[in-house]
Amino acid sequence: MGYRYRLHRSDLPGKPDLAFLGKRKVIFVHGCFWHQHGCRFSHVPKSNRPYWVPKLERNQARDAEHLKALRADGWKCLVLWECQLSGIQRIRRRLSKFLE
Ligand SMILES: [Zn+2]
Repeated sequence: MGYRYRLHRSDLPGKPDLAFLGKRKVIFVHGCFWHQHGCRFSHVPKSNRPYWVPKLERNQARDAEHLKALRADGWKCLVLWECQLSGIQRIRRRLSKFLE
C-alpha cells in the first residue's frame, strides 16, 4: 500500500508488529489464543488450567499496559486479530482508514 513502516521496534512498548514512525501509529497483529481475543479461537485449554489461566491473563494484562503506555505517549494504536484477517479488500480499507 506504499506506507513506510518498521517491524517490531524494541524501543516501543510491546514491540508493535508494525510502527509508522512519521505518523506515530502502530499496529499489533494478535493471535486470538495467545492474546485471548474472546472469540471462538481463544478458548483456554481444559487440561493444565493452573498453567494456562495465569499465563494467558498475564498476556492480556501486558497487552493492556502496552496500549496504555503507547497512547499516553501520543501513539495511535490498532489491534488486528487473527480471526479478522480474511478478506484482503476489507483489511486494506481498514488500514487506509487507520493510517490516513
Ligand atoms: Zn479472534
